[in-house]
Amino acid sequence: MTESVQNPADVTAAAEAVARRFTELYGAEPAGVWAAPGRVNLIGEHTDYNGGFVMPFALPQVAVAAVSPREDGLLRLSSADVPGGVVERRVDELLPGSDKRWTAYPAGVVWAMLEGGHAVTGADVHLASTVPSGAGLSSSAALEVVVALALDDLFGLGLDRALLARICQRAENEYVGAPTGIMDQTASACCEAGHALFLDTRDGTRRQIPFDLAAEGMRLLVVDTQVKHAHSGGEYGKRRAGCERGAELLGVPVLRDIPYAELDEALERLEDEEIRRLVRHVVTEDERVERVVRLLNDGDTRGIGPVLTEGHASLRDDFRVSAPELDTVVEAALAAGALGARMTGGGFGGSAIVLVDDDKADAVVSAVGSAFAEAGHQPPRVFPAVPSRGAWRVHPA
Ligand code: ADP
Ligand code: MG
Repeated sequence: MTESVQNPADVTAAAEAVARRFTELYGAEPAGVWAAPGRVNLIGEHTDYNGGFVMPFALPQVAVAAVSPREDGLLRLSSADVPGGVVERRVDELLPGSDKRWTAYPAGVVWAMLEGGHAVTGADVHLASTVPSGAGLSSSAALEVVVALALDDLFGLGLDRALLARICQRAENEYVGAPTGIMDQTASACCEAGHALFLDTRDGTRRQIPFDLAAEGMRLLVVDTQVKHAHSGGEYGKRRAGCERGAELLGVPVLRDIPYAELDEALERLEDEEIRRLVRHVVTEDERVERVVRLLNDGDTRGIGPVLTEGHASLRDDFRVSAPELDTVVEAALAAGALGARMTGGGFGGSAIVLVDDDKADAVVSAVGSAFAEAGHQPPRVFPAVPSRGAWRVHPA
């Protein structure tokens, strides 16, 4: 898997390299090259499978895929970042759960398209990605969305972005077997440069919220701890099941239906301490997303800092999905003058985000580095997160 944290301006060069390699592998130039980004979630964690609100934005880091359509039912897949050459599948033999390798993501998209009645008769795919894998920045959604957009284009399917995102989610849920919500794929497919995306995951309502930190002398740093604690998959499932149980006990379809104003009353009705904590996180997190939207709409970007930090405390203490490395980032960054900080993504490792004034950024980065060294953690990778565009066709432009 690629180690470099990307040079954001280099999509064109990456597209050319991927197209060249495609031609070597498959003996003809690709019909086109597409790109789809990873994302960070500004606020709204573990709300997307509870019908709640999320607010991701797209990163400059992208998966880039060169693709040609085929008519003979063959699907050929290769990744510049994974050894093993070209993997071949027949589109009519794709079986959910059968593939434990990276190829499950693109193959799953083809499977989900066929399940949805969209005629895809095969493809040659070669891809590469600068989205760090397994860092909580959604390299998986980038992979799915780039393939989905390419197939939509090449087979003239005319699917809108929201539907493409749902197809990709289905691929990840049913074909790969990862029970994730709709946020990641929607972010990769629908984000716009200079904006964060407010998404109501229950009805799919989307709003682009201007989010231009550079203009205000601030930046948002992504701190990739490069740690992924092994039990993350099972713990995610447990949290999700706990939320569903909470909704059932409270007599609502999803926890989103518990209004913030009625939270205390709802908590009193729950006997199980663990479920009470899960419910409290989800309901307060939805309120934090709404608060961030209000602050940004009011032009008070600095004001979101403490809300991010509150969100971290809730994920650490109530939802219990943080990790020592993530807590170290948050504590060290705040102590060095950051405006706010939180873990982002599912948790148990992965990345944290830090909102900081430009003139404090160096001090914060070095404080986080020192704190990691002191705690005996591997040095983290740090890069600025610039709100970037969602998926697009790179070539032909
Ligand atoms: P995240 O989405 O947070 O990065 P996931 O575990 O959901 O983490 O997805 C990571 C997986 O996506 C990898 O294990 C690999 O299977 C696949 N993947 C990511 N990037 C690439 C790539 N460049 N080439 C092939 N597979 C990739
Ligand atoms: Mg993922």
